[in-house]
Amino acid sequence: GPGDVSVLEARALRVRYGGFIALDGVGLRVPPGRVTAVVGPNGAGKSTLFHCLAGTLRPERGVVRFGARDVTRLPAHARTRLGVARTFQQLAVFPTLTVAENVRVGAEQGRVSDPGAVERTLRLLGLDGPVRALPAAGLPTGTLRRVELARALAGGPRVLLLDEPAAGLDTAEVAALARILKALAADGMALLVVEHDLDLVADLADVVHVMTAGRIVATGPPGHVLDTLGEATGR
Ligand code: ADP
Ligand code: MG
Repeated sequence: GPGDVSVLEARALRVRYGGFIALDGVGLRVPPGRVTAVVGPNGAGKSTLFHCLAGTLRPERGVVRFGARDVTRLPAHARTRLGVARTFQQLAVFPTLTVAENVRVGAEQGRVSDPGAVERTLRLLGLDGPVRALPAAGLPTGTLRRVELARALAGGPRVLLLDEPAAGLDTAEVAALARILKALAADGMALLVVEHDLDLVADLADVVHVMTAGRIVATGPPGHVLDTLGEATGR
């Protein structure tokens, strides 16, 4: 319902960079138990929307709500504390900390402080072997993406925002990622994925929003919406 504690929602967002309108009345809901995807060509405004939801950018107009609460003016770290976690398109792990230490930082920044969360999350992402004790610096991209995901998950988020989670992953790693994200949604988490890889979106998403030029131009299940996008972009 409208007061659901774990629905993240954007309404009528408008963002301008100087004279350029990057978001022009964008709204969407990120409900629990679902993977919601945002796709669209480069420059469409996907990352700008992502930043508004995560709290790293304030819209000029519009509202971001989390459950019954207006979080439009709440900075990113405060949203994380409420249960809105994110990963970064540019990987953002602490290079000198070990894998396990990186995940512990995530646990401390999150919604719940659960001493078992670090171990559970390391296991979930296959990071509980010897790799746990290695510094993050120098680890392969596929491993770092898992560290990032683990860091975001260790705080027990209600909502997980992922900007280009498949970037730099090979086919097997993308398949493993899809399995994990589906399991999280099946467990009741709300997931938002901004993604270039339309095969992954088709496999993963329950609802897809197509953005072009700062607006959402189509919304629906991937089977319907991605055909439209294919025609629009010549895919
Ligand atoms: P996407 O993630 O869909 O590729 P972005 O949200 O990154 O799109 O960018 C949307 C548009 O806004 C692009 O035209 C981009 O060049 C512009 N833009 C993004 N960030 C800035 C910024 N900080 N200053 C000026 N223009 C920006
Ligand atoms: Mg982007």
